[in-house]
Amino acid sequence: MKLSQAHINTLREVPGEAEIPSHIWLLRSGMIRRTVSGVYGFMPFGLRTVRKIEAIIREEMDAAGAQEILMSAIQPAELWRESGRWFAYGPELWRVKDRHGREFCLGPTAEEVFADIVRSDVDSYRRLPLNLYQIQTKYRDEARPRYGLIRSREFIMKDAYSFDRDWEGLDKSYRIMYEAYEKIFSRCGLNFRTVEADSGAMGGKDTQEFIALCEYGENDIVYCAHCGMAANAERAAGVDAAPSDEEMLPVSEVRTPGAKTIEAVADYLGLPKEKTIKALLFSVRGADGGGDADCGGDAERCGDGYAAVFLRGDRTLNMTKLVNALGVAEHMIGFADEKAMGAKTGSVAGYTGPIGLHDCRIVVDSELRGLKNLCAGACKEGCHLLNVNYGRDYEGAIVTDLKLVGAGASCPVCGRPLSAARGIEVGQVFKLGTKYSESMGAYYKDENQEAQPIVMGCYGIGVTRTAAAVVEQNHDGKGIIWPMSVAPYHVIVTLVKPDDETQRTAAERIYAALTAGGAETLLDDRDERPGVKFNDADIFGIPIRITVGRKAADGLVEYKRRREEEATELTSDGAIAKALADVRAEIRGKDA
Ligand code: ATP
Ligand code: MG
Repeated sequence: MKLSQAHINTLREVPGEAEIPSHIWLLRSGMIRRTVSGVYGFMPFGLRTVRKIEAIIREEMDAAGAQEILMSAIQPAELWRESGRWFAYGPELWRVKDRHGREFCLGPTAEEVFADIVRSDVDSYRRLPLNLYQIQTKYRDEARPRYGLIRSREFIMKDAYSFDRDWEGLDKSYRIMYEAYEKIFSRCGLNFRTVEADSGAMGGKDTQEFIALCEYGENDIVYCAHCGMAANAERAAGVDAAPSDEEMLPVSEVRTPGAKTIEAVADYLGLPKEKTIKALLFSVRGADGGGDADCGGDAERCGDGYAAVFLRGDRTLNMTKLVNALGVAEHMIGFADEKAMGAKTGSVAGYTGPIGLHDCRIVVDSELRGLKNLCAGACKEGCHLLNVNYGRDYEGAIVTDLKLVGAGASCPVCGRPLSAARGIEVGQVFKLGTKYSESMGAYYKDENQEAQPIVMGCYGIGVTRTAAAVVEQNHDGKGIIWPMSVAPYHVIVTLVKPDDETQRTAAERIYAALTAGGAETLLDDRDERPGVKFNDADIFGIPIRITVGRKAADGLVEYKRRREEEATELTSDGAIAKALADVRAEIRGKDA
């Protein structure tokens, strides 16, 4: 491609909405273009990178025995009602109506659609196992679209679904997908880690996420350098403090005026925070709050109303664990209005403790059971209670691990201190089991003609998010540094003076030879200052730059890798040979 004919539009300024490097550089290079918040389009170079990621995914999925199909992004509400997710998915589900008032959603994922395919197409065990996938635009009306392609409302996802006769079959299908994902992300040039992930209140069993490690990632992960345990912090099990063998002392009330936070109370009473109990108050909406009343089961399980959560004062609540413990969808829970909750339950803002509360669910972190003589709010303005003990003074309707685990916490497997890191979830593999096949009636007949539920797995990759994650890991102060495997072009030939006949002839010869040799090559033949051309080549992140300038008269050009500072001088033929060799060596990514 000659740049003089290409549709490119690099930006000099950092666009206001962009906060992190991938977002900044994808916009500044003109590879993506914002339509509205969380909705992006792809310009020619951006689209080439997306297509390359898709091609890598296709190759590895096909090699793993999966078959590609393409379903519509428009999904009828009925399918989602069958699985129970029309309600449970919450406001992220992009709901639309047709002219007759019939309800649909723009698919955020497609378990229902794929379960619907197999329930009608697969009748016998002979047709299993099966793995179907698609690469398709997905829609999620995210509460906070941000970071460009990382959290957008419209994005491209590869989603695959495996169908097996039994759990053993699923284990195998899952393993195959896991290995395919390792190859895919390696080939995309990502530095990633796989972690145990949360399977949520929505059923399912094992699940792992592929996290591209980087500073700005939205996912916190913890891992143990000693035993190899690695988990999303949402999921990582907390280790309870050892039970105390203190004698239980009698409860006594103390005045703590103005001490409404754990810090203030601990300070005021001269107690370590570990001797206090922290209260967090939530309201939990039932089926009438979330959009659709035909999935009222959740409301029954949880009850509309309030939940008071208690943890040791120095701990942090893990919201995912709370949502799972309550068995509700995440969108049904929020911080309580303290006044309204106080009127109904006896809680008192800043002074709530587990004794004296009524008409609300008491949820207690498991370690409080074993700790003795703690200080908690007295449910009375300006007062706390000393020597509060679980069992004797209060009990929880739910007692479970609610702790958020971070760096330095004990590894739940071996007990050594954990390390923490951040990253971007680029993919997830999930053993769904029979949740969808049972709710939607996807059964097959086994050898004895008996109906059995199909055992499902699902496997997602954020294609456009992966592109952003690659940039997040591969950039510098001048722009993107694409790995060869996903670069929009492999080589850029920078013609310094287009009106110099010798330079032009040399550059065009190199361009033609590289293109003929299979290297995807750009020729910067624009009538621009050299500085502009060099800057643009750096912003685009093309892995190899061959500069044809004054020395073309002596048959010499400059050969420079985007990642390196220094250029080397080569003959034109030497540069062609080296570029073709470098491209061939790197084009299949890290696993080549
Ligand atoms: P997150 O926790 O980041 O919201 P998720 O776990 O809900 O994501 P999945 O349902 O596992 O997402 O979707 C599969 C993949 O799709 C994710 O691993 C991610 O790469 C991608 N993805 C999900 N949501 C978005 C989004 N809003 N924008 C871009 N990619 C996304
Ligand atoms: Mg996920």
